[in-house]
Amino acid sequence: MNQSVYTVEKLNETTFRIDECGRDNCYLLLGEERALLIDCSIGTGELPTLLRALTDLPVTVAATHAHGDHVGAGHQFDAVYVPEEEITLNFRIQNLRHFRRKLISNTMRKQGITEKNITGSVLHAKWLPMEDGKVFDLGGRVVRTFRTPGHTQGGTCFLDEGQRMLFVGDAVCPVLPMQIYRCMPLSAWLPGGERIYALAKQGVQVFCGHGDGRISAELLRQQIAWVQEILQAHPKNEKKHSRAYYPEFSVQGCVTYDPANLY
Ligand SMILES: [Zn+2]
Ligand SMILES: [Zn+2]
Repeated sequence: MNQSVYTVEKLNETTFRIDECGRDNCYLLLGEERALLIDCSIGTGELPTLLRALTDLPVTVAATHAHGDHVGAGHQFDAVYVPEEEITLNFRIQNLRHFRRKLISNTMRKQGITEKNITGSVLHAKWLPMEDGKVFDLGGRVVRTFRTPGHTQGGTCFLDEGQRMLFVGDAVCPVLPMQIYRCMPLSAWLPGGERIYALAKQGVQVFCGHGDGRISAELLRQQIAWVQEILQAHPKNEKKHSRAYYPEFSVQGCVTYDPANLY
């Protein structure tokens, strides 16, 4: 396995961002008795080996949602908590090796990552149902979850109130991804987006599943405003599915959406 696919950023003494080839982020939170890994990326390297270099603590793995770039390496662990709404055949199929291989980006190819780096089968991954509001007590550090449906039906955020950190997966991202197959309607995203923004305004740091992980309160405010503008401009769904960008693709933080899936 190629371990150079991972870059580790220390966010503070007990929290790490693990970047997989610039493609996606997962986060390792250390308590006094346990560690929590939030998401586990596509699986182009051997994540458990990396974690052992960072901590001796037993690690619980939990996912923000069941897309292949967030639970792809699930088979490398004993079990992964997955939002209970997403333990479905559809999400299992999206995690088959064939589909995870399609997630390899051009940037990854330039780093020598190919389809051969994607090994292991989702059929060997044990998915445990994670209910809304589940609490992970790591010993001296408590992480609470809440749902923010939108990007997916069971999309889950992980809030560490003690350290004022929030981990959101793809609920908000540098480019808001609301055009993907089986996303919820764009209007369903708003309450979750507003809940995350409310926390960010209180000074909670928001970390997401892509880019450098950072999402500012200002970007959240802007994305909410853009989603509201899209809905005001389109009072009902269009008939044809397509991919649209607002205000436009080149604008930082733009919203990607499907005009046939607004309501
Ligand atoms: Zn996703
Ligand atoms: Zn993602």
